[in-house]
Amino acid sequence: MISLDEFRRRPTHAVRIGGCTIGGSAPIAVQSMTNTPTADLRASVAQTERIADAGAPIVRLTAQGRREGEALAGIVAALRADNYPTAVVADIHFTPEIAFMAAEAVDKVRINPGNFRTDSGQLEHLVEICRRRGVALRIGVNHGSLARRIVDEWGDTPEGMVASAMEFLRRCRELDFDQVVVSMKSSNTRVMVHAYRLLVEAMDREGMTYPLHVGVTEAGDGREGRIKSAVGIGALLADGIGDTIRVSLTEDPEREVPVARQLVDYFARREGRFHVHHPERYSPTAYRRRSSVDMPVTHAELDERFLVVDAVSGNPTAEWRAAILDMEGDRPVVIRRRYEGGDADEVALFAAADMGQLLLDGLADGVWIDAPEIDAAVLHDIELMILQASRVRFSRTEYIACPSCGRTLYDIQTALARIKARTGHLPNLKIGVMGCIVNGPGEMADADYGYVGAAPGCITLYRGREIVERNIPQSEALDRLVALIEADGRWSEPAAEK
Ligand code: SF4
Repeated sequence: MISLDEFRRRPTHAVRIGGCTIGGSAPIAVQSMTNTPTADLRASVAQTERIADAGAPIVRLTAQGRREGEALAGIVAALRADNYPTAVVADIHFTPEIAFMAAEAVDKVRINPGNFRTDSGQLEHLVEICRRRGVALRIGVNHGSLARRIVDEWGDTPEGMVASAMEFLRRCRELDFDQVVVSMKSSNTRVMVHAYRLLVEAMDREGMTYPLHVGVTEAGDGREGRIKSAVGIGALLADGIGDTIRVSLTEDPEREVPVARQLVDYFARREGRFHVHHPERYSPTAYRRRSSVDMPVTHAELDERFLVVDAVSGNPTAEWRAAILDMEGDRPVVIRRRYEGGDADEVALFAAADMGQLLLDGLADGVWIDAPEIDAAVLHDIELMILQASRVRFSRTEYIACPSCGRTLYDIQTALARIKARTGHLPNLKIGVMGCIVNGPGEMADADYGYVGAAPGCITLYRGREIVERNIPQSEALDRLVALIEADGRWSEPAAEK
């Protein structure tokens, strides 16, 4: 039997973001990001206020160019005039000069280390402004946009993400600047969870206590997007990792906030004891399956070969983990938990947060959600979604859809709904649906096809990383995507409704 420690959040130091604190003894903060054009002051202020009203104390806005950078000061002033103390964050991907400009106006600046340098004075200058104004910094690593030199050395891997983050964190420490938050996002829950865990190990080795911003990027929309976010974020929160979270959905951003809140509250009210650090995860064979059974199941498909492990109280992942690790042999394991009350969305979110971790760690082969008040077909669908979000079993098309931001050039929400309706039955395919051509192609990772906003109302189609057709009017783009999949011999007709 493994010994269980009291549950605790990983100790971090406090970072002030305007009037909000991340890390230290502060509760986990939820945040979101606008998708209005940042230079449109009225629309951006109105949306930021809607996000704040939904319960997020921190709101991020993209600042891709000078116009957007210049708009930030006006946005902050308008929010304060409306009595919104919301902490404002500028999201910078490429241009250091815009980061310098933004740092003069906002409460936190997020930079992507894939596009910033530590050896040219850029970071030093930014830190100088941040220190003078009391502004925080986020080192926001994205799996899809690592620097070329990092990819050359480490490949497109969690280890490369960690190397990228640590280079910046070490430089910040040399500069004696500790108001830094760090994130390691990916749309792949397995990559993302592994990257955060490796980063925590690396920081621990060097005595660093920077707080962590946790999220699954490009999670998509609807129940699928929520489940994917809950699998990744829940696995880390259960580890005690995470000081602020964002649930990224391809929906109106204020809709992200209650989902993030539900997740935070779910973990906050957990009782009991569990092991926060899990040595077995860090072995070279991390993520190996416990058994040789290669047929992950939903409870509808159970047979006598499977062991069912129940968790009925306290901290379910702790109970499951202890029970599974205590078992002899390698019989496949199905984890079962009963959920009383709550609607299907809530059960889906909590079950994903509970069960995803064990699926990611290769400790379980199946899931069984026992929720008598919810329709059996709906539950079966939720179980399949959890298996897919944990990348254990693919039963439907995988979508990598960005949440959109001020760079988005078309109506991505409607487009995603139409693409899903037409292509949702192809479990062998991953389709990226991305708002902009600047970050989209890199961040759709290993998608087989990409549907990417190229100019207002125009789409560019990708096969893998290769452009197939440029600047198609949006009205024709879905047909052309389907034609492309057909021409590649990867299309099948949906099964007839029974
Ligand atoms: S890919 Fe989407 S979220 Fe990312 S920068 Fe482009 S539009 Fe914004």
